Amino acid sequence: MTEEPCQCPDCQRFYREHDRLIREFPTFKEQQELNWASIQSFRTLCSKVTNELQRKLSERESNLGNTLEDTHITDIEITEALDELESVNAYLYSIEALMEKIFDRKISNNIESKFKEIADELAPDPLNMDRLILNRLFHQTPDSPDKKNIN
Ligand SMILES: [Zn+2]
Repeated sequence: MTEEPCQCPDCQRFYREHDRLIREFPTFKEQQELNWASIQSFRTLCSKVTNELQRKLSERESNLGNTLEDTHITDIEITEALDELESVNAYLYSIEALMEKIFDRKISNNIESKFKEIADELAPDPLNMDRLILNRLFHQTPDSPDKKNIN
């Protein structure tokens, strides 16, 4: 018995994003670059925010930050965020080490073509003309004689 995939808004958004990433990055090399860039950008952003929060916290501890306007973030909030970000940064660092190994792998052009071919099957362009025509055919009434002739 096969289980139906969940159709909640979060999952639907995930399926759409998943398919979009296959459609827009349909080769092995493009997936390598995409995932490498994605890990790097996440790491860059997390460590910049971490540095900024650490600076803010030490400023407050030395009472220099009292006159600054951004007191809407509490010290507890900053401390908690720093704990979370510290563990995220550690995990991202580990993922980066693994991604580096994946990034070093190479495949032939023939296999790249296979990647493109499978990507087209997995995530066809929703605005592609063939796809639109196909959708129109599928949305005809099930008993229509037209549809029987197609099969
Ligand atoms: Zn769901």
